[in-house]
Amino acid sequence: MAKTYDYLFKLLLIGDSGVGKTCVLFRFSEDAFNSTFISTIGIDFKIRTIELDGKKIKLQIWDTAGQERFRTITTAYYRGAMGIMLVYDITNEKSFENIKNWIRNIEEVCLLTCICYYILNKTHIMKEFLICQNLALEYGIKFMETSAKANINVENAFLTLARDIKSKMDTKLEGNSPQGSSHGVKISEPQKKSSFFRCVLL
Ligand code: GDP
Ligand code: MG
Repeated sequence: MAKTYDYLFKLLLIGDSGVGKTCVLFRFSEDAFNSTFISTIGIDFKIRTIELDGKKIKLQIWDTAGQERFRTITTAYYRGAMGIMLVYDITNEKSFENIKNWIRNIEEVCLLTCICYYILNKTHIMKEFLICQNLALEYGIKFMETSAKANINVENAFLTLARDIKSKMDTKLEGNSPQGSSHGVKISEPQKKSSFFRCVLL
């Protein structure tokens, strides 16, 4: 069968249970929201093909099926991941406290090989927004706010992540070519402040 895409990106959704990972994924893949979601069991991943710069990019997005404590997620799960969405819910204090644990977990296994974003799902609270932004700066990862329910910024979050992965790949390829530029070094640079963006939300 003919290949129907130019790139295949493996993405992961991680974060505490109940923060809205499955809803975010459902919003992105089906453009729908179901408030009666009970459990993730049975869903391993969703696929959606998007187009960027005239190229078809197949996104294979893995949802942690019930193993949402950072310690229980194995290295095998992270293997091959090109991008991670670390999701949390500011109304859930525990999920906020756990952010650092999640980041540490990611750092141990794959921070150098993949691009990481963390997204705040569900709410917008100014004070917490600033705390989150500072935390993102501290770890050099990007921060975005989403609402799976109100359909805010979910599409944008995945497209931005995909775009970043693509440019990282393109830069890498360029660096490997005989005429390659030294810009390849850019790959491991932390995200700059200017790349953060802010959205007005719920
Ligand atoms: P997961 O355990 O991280 O996969 O979380 P779920 O996706 O199953 O969502 C947990 C709960 O949060 C569900 O009751 C959802 O209806 C609710 N939820 C998810 N996203 C949103 C959102 O953007 N806004 C609001 N208000 N509730 C949400
Ligand atoms: Mg789930």
